[in-house]
Amino acid sequence: MPIRSIRVRLLIWYAVVLTGVVGGFAFVLYYEVRAARLAELDAQLEAAAAGLDSALRLFPPYELNGEPPPFAPPPKKGFEPKGKFPPPKPKEESGPLRERLVNSLDLPGPPETRPANVYFAIWRGNHSLLKAVGPNPDVQIPSVEPGRPRLAFRGQSRELAMIGPEESVILVGRPAGEVASDLRRFAWQLAGTGLAVLAIGLLGGWLIARRIFRPIAAIAATAAKISGDDLSARINTDSIDQELADLARVLNATFRRLEAAFDRQACFTADASHELRTPLAVIRSQAELTLSRARTPEQYEEALRTCLGAAERMSDLVDGLLTLARADAGRETMAREPVDLGRVAMEAVELCRPLADEKRIVIKTSISTTKVLGDASALSRVVGNLVANAIKYNRPNGQVQITLGPDDGEALLTVRDTGEGIAEEHHAQLFERFYRADKARSRATGGSGLGLAIAKAVVEAHGGAIGFESVVGKGSKFWVRLPLGKRKHSRQP
Ligand code: ADP
Repeated sequence: MPIRSIRVRLLIWYAVVLTGVVGGFAFVLYYEVRAARLAELDAQLEAAAAGLDSALRLFPPYELNGEPPPFAPPPKKGFEPKGKFPPPKPKEESGPLRERLVNSLDLPGPPETRPANVYFAIWRGNHSLLKAVGPNPDVQIPSVEPGRPRLAFRGQSRELAMIGPEESVILVGRPAGEVASDLRRFAWQLAGTGLAVLAIGLLGGWLIARRIFRPIAAIAATAAKISGDDLSARINTDSIDQELADLARVLNATFRRLEAAFDRQACFTADASHELRTPLAVIRSQAELTLSRARTPEQYEEALRTCLGAAERMSDLVDGLLTLARADAGRETMAREPVDLGRVAMEAVELCRPLADEKRIVIKTSISTTKVLGDASALSRVVGNLVANAIKYNRPNGQVQITLGPDDGEALLTVRDTGEGIAEEHHAQLFERFYRADKARSRATGGSGLGLAIAKAVVEAHGGAIGFESVVGKGSKFWVRLPLGKRKHSRQP
């Protein structure tokens, strides 16, 4: 089963790496110390073997070969010994000389300078023992190749075997129990220290992991709280480490936006119901009042007209809310048909002309055929709203100038008026839903504060942008940029 906890996985990985590092370090250290100790021992054995090898070179070859000594050579010609000489004795009879040679065969250097407990044994070429000396003389002839001295442990002893002169075999050894026990003690010390380092490292790792994961748990707890009722809760970034504090700040910003979106949503619902309640109240009170007693036909007609006006206002509002909801849902919900924005603009101008005439406002247009891809009714609502605003918030005898045409690869629509402009403090919120800069005037002109919000949502759902510039006392210019509707050539198979 895979391990699901990051903390456990981190600790396992950490333990494996730490064990590898500590183990590797101890291994290298042990083998370095062991090699140094053995090199010291081996140097002593090599010096002793070299000394014995030099001493053996003084021996007559027949002695080392295990052969009988030859007789002394016959006297040279022309040499007549005077008197009677005994016949030459064979060498083997010169026992004392041989014994002296064998006895003198010993480790090099004066006895007091020799390392203690060194033993040696020498075999002749025929494998008969020439001499064995030392505390461990009970040794077997080792197998060794010429020119390749062999250093090895035999039991507790370290021994060097090599081929000497005349195929003789030299073996030098020394009990190495002390070195072995020293090395064993060193290995235990290393293992103990390694385990202690491992334990401290793992404990440290566990504590660090706990410290790292504690704020994550706190973040999760806050997030869980936020997803419930309390949207105002925030993660405290002061006591969190840098990396997590960045994450916490991002989450806090998201929570802030979420809270603002929830607030906006609540506000929007309240505003929408308020806006719908007003005409409903008008219809109801008008109906109640009219029905309270008998009325003349003119009075009934008047009452019905008022109700009709309120119903139109309500249906306009509901249409607006529906367009907004469609635009909010994104591009997919908007139609993508070829639309001539020029025609849409001209229709909007014609629809608004009675209102302009009423206020004696001159409308000037410079509109060219401009094709875009989109939702004709939603776009018509955008243009109609901008033109209606330019008239509604204009001064009497003012002017409205509408231009439309391609600009920099986009469709650019501008609606300029000669009204009193929009004060700086309203700029940031002007496109918000139900926001009215001049509340009294907006209501008086039948405005709900939804027009610009709908325009923004529709334009953005078409991949465009909307904005404005305004000078108080002089007028405003609203602009809309939309991608030009290019005909797509789909390849025929
Ligand atoms: P409304 O239905 O109130 O006109 P809008 O969303 O269309 O709502 O406009 C929001 C507010 O922006 C208006 O109430 C008005 O105060 C201000 N506004 C819009 N267009 C203009 C303009 N051309 N000149 C001055 N103020 C404007």
